[in-house]
Amino acid sequence: MPTIALRNISKHYGKGGVKAVADLSLEVADGDFMCLLGPSGCGKTTTLRMIAGLENLTDGEIAVGERLVDSANKGVFVPPERREMGLVFQSYALWPHLTIEGNTDFGLRLRNVSKAERQERVARVMTTLGIEKYRDRYPSELSGGQQQRVALARMLVVNPEVLLLDEPLSNLDARLRLEMRTELKRIHGEFGTTIVFVTHDQWEAMTLATRIAVMNNGTLQQVGSPEDIYDRPANRFVAEFVGNPPINIIELGSADGLAGSAAEFLKRHGKDTLMVTSIGLRPEAIRLTRVKADLPDADLCGPVVLSAILPTGGSWILELGGDGQKLHATTNVTPVWDDREHLFFHVAADAVHMFDGDGNRIGQDDTITTNDVTAGDLPGQ
Ligand code: ADP
Ligand code: MG
Repeated sequence: MPTIALRNISKHYGKGGVKAVADLSLEVADGDFMCLLGPSGCGKTTTLRMIAGLENLTDGEIAVGERLVDSANKGVFVPPERREMGLVFQSYALWPHLTIEGNTDFGLRLRNVSKAERQERVARVMTTLGIEKYRDRYPSELSGGQQQRVALARMLVVNPEVLLLDEPLSNLDARLRLEMRTELKRIHGEFGTTIVFVTHDQWEAMTLATRIAVMNNGTLQQVGSPEDIYDRPANRFVAEFVGNPPINIIELGSADGLAGSAAEFLKRHGKDTLMVTSIGLRPEAIRLTRVKADLPDADLCGPVVLSAILPTGGSWILELGGDGQKLHATTNVTPVWDDREHLFFHVAADAVHMFDGDGNRIGQDDTITTNDVTAGDLPGQ
């Protein structure tokens, strides 16, 4: 499958109405498992529908390889049925008068596939998705989750080169959702299908995607691997949207408490504290100790008070108070601290995310490393 290129696409509903998507550019390469991730209303479904050809563009163009399939200015529009893409939407319609087998078989019949081959392919996909036991039932006799699996089976059986999936797992319970994620990942690996998958669930995107496109308010915030998105968020929106518990943001500006510790850290590393207006710390990057002396000089460190221990079953969330601002840390080791105990937190220098006044990440190349502490300017001296 050639690359799907979205070039500066926009969608406005109605004249001067809602700007659902604004100037979005994105390339989906052959074999990508691309997740469009963002909060409800950010334009994910609209983007997917434009790729499918169910909405036309207000501006920009979409090309599949060399072939332009939609261009607002050149008057090109290839209808959905000629784009060769399989679609599964959050609300899907199964044929109520056909059995599960009949529904799964439907696409193959339209394509004039021989009966023997149809039977073999339908049986295989029904087994894969665990719906073969319902083959003679009708959709009304299945639960929402089972129906969703039939909708997926109906799509997969025709081996589309591109699968467009809009929150296809949203009606499943937690256990089934996990199973289906594994299944989708396997299908992607096995068939090499290019997948564009819409979800508002960051966990789902992180576990499934080869690449994630994070959206907010109709605009693209960042595209990258799950690791890029998590470890090098392009801005505060991305940093705060991905991660659970969410990243801790410390606003600079005060000389006391956590802000004071952060300012001292930045100064030690020769960073301009006027340019950096906030820093972000992932909960799992925070370590706690009783004594400050143990800490490497380059780290961010400071005093905190343990204000709550929240067990989550196998791991713990620790709430740390520091002069008005709070931090959340996570640990997989049974906490040995006492409630209200005065401790020191520390975070490795390269795990400190810095943001400017517009919320943008400060220089990818500008990441603080453990080697760049100014000599003679160490903490406690
Ligand atoms: P998401 O899938 O990320 O939740 P959508 O793409 O469905 O977001 O919607 C993006 C924005 O466009 C929302 O503000 C939504 O209300 C608006 N919108 C979506 N479809 C229509 C439509 N058919 N007419 C008018 N506004 C719409
Ligand atoms: Mg949607």
